[in-house]
Amino acid sequence: MIKDFARKRSINVCIVNTGGCNGCDIEVVSTLAPRYDIEQYGIYVHNNPREADVLVVTGPVVLPWKERLKEIFEKTPEPKVVVAVGACALSCGIFKEGHVYGPVDKIIPVDAKLPGCPPRPSEIIEAIVSIAPEALAMKEKMLKEMELKNKNNQENNNQDNQETNK
Ligand code: SF4
Repeated sequence: MIKDFARKRSINVCIVNTGGCNGCDIEVVSTLAPRYDIEQYGIYVHNNPREADVLVVTGPVVLPWKERLKEIFEKTPEPKVVVAVGACALSCGIFKEGHVYGPVDKIIPVDAKLPGCPPRPSEIIEAIVSIAPEALAMKEKMLKEMELKNKNNQENNNQDNQETNK
């Protein structure tokens, strides 16, 4: 509950590399540096899908990552947003002829696609910030619905207890 409240006004991003060359990851990590400072937008990067609002996926999906990516997507709580970053995530890029299963949207639904090999940190921030308000609005709506549901459950429990005590 306290965690939900604290995270109400922030966007948590989980980075998933499904088989790329790490070039895109380096650019994603650069968004944390003082020069770009992604946290000034209330966006926090970590690697826990259970606490993420946004999944940033880099690289083509190689065969061992097919099921793992699905699992990570399922572990991420609703509402969730997926941003595919880089040419490889969008179309397998330079790995097209290699042992890859396919682009990210072949496995999970993708909400925003950012081309480039690799895209610049500023473009990555722009892509996340452009979908963040929507993610926040959905998150706030969901939390309100949860609060209302909990309140109703509490009231029903109190009523039941009162009737049992009569
Ligand atoms: S898009 Fe370019 S930098 Fe990113 S993973 Fe593919 S090859 Fe590497």
